Amino acid sequence: MIVAFTDLDDTLFQTLRKLPPGMPGLIPATLGRDGQPHSFCTPAQSALLAHFADSGVTVIPVTGRDPAAMARVALPFTSWRVLDHGLTILRPDGQMDTDWRGQVLTQLEPLQGALRDCTQAIAGLAEALGCRLSHHTAHETHFMTVLKHPDADAGSLERVQLALEHHLDSRGYADLQIIANANNVSVLPRYPGKAEAVRHLRQQHFSHATLTLALGDSLSDLAFMNACDLAVTPPGGQVLRTVTAAKLPQR
Ligand SMILES: [Mg+2]
Repeated sequence: MIVAFTDLDDTLFQTLRKLPPGMPGLIPATLGRDGQPHSFCTPAQSALLAHFADSGVTVIPVTGRDPAAMARVALPFTSWRVLDHGLTILRPDGQMDTDWRGQVLTQLEPLQGALRDCTQAIAGLAEALGCRLSHHTAHETHFMTVLKHPDADAGSLERVQLALEHHLDSRGYADLQIIANANNVSVLPRYPGKAEAVRHLRQQHFSHATLTLALGDSLSDLAFMNACDLAVTPPGGQVLRTVTAAKLPQR
């Protein structure tokens, strides 16, 4: 048995903004809140998914999307699903994995004070820079604060990120981490995350898999990619851009 654990956004599909203008052969993969197609699979991404389906590979999404955003993904996932950056696991029948929920809540509880403190500390600067601040919950519990700039202004997002990093350092919040993407900066627990959810699924349900693949584009995917046998990452993604820019000695 082969299992592919895969990030979704910017790995299996992306918005038109990130594609060359007029690219042929795009297939809608998600709907926006307005019900219109929002993200699309390129022919290469569609071919990969078709290849997985034809060869009986079990495909398990591992995404930051919450259940509502996952419901807008049109791709036919039929196995387990990892949502909320690893904090939620859905069974193949769509029901919540309540064991995992219990473990996650136990680990989130002691981090609530630090999360609240970080959120309060960044609120003023975020507002001054025109960033929107939102609380994200899993299992009715705050686990992530997201700062989004409506125009994805890189300078504003960088200032927010640096201020948050400084706050985490100065308070010694080693159990929280910051992840940044094109139009947002988020603060969330370091553990549990995508990697712990993937390890949990491997141990509990896929210990007989002969090969586990990991697909992801972002630095925040690296931990779960390191928890699989082989990693696949798109060109132009955060992972390859970072590796390409690093002037590492070859050994
Ligand atoms: Mg991604």
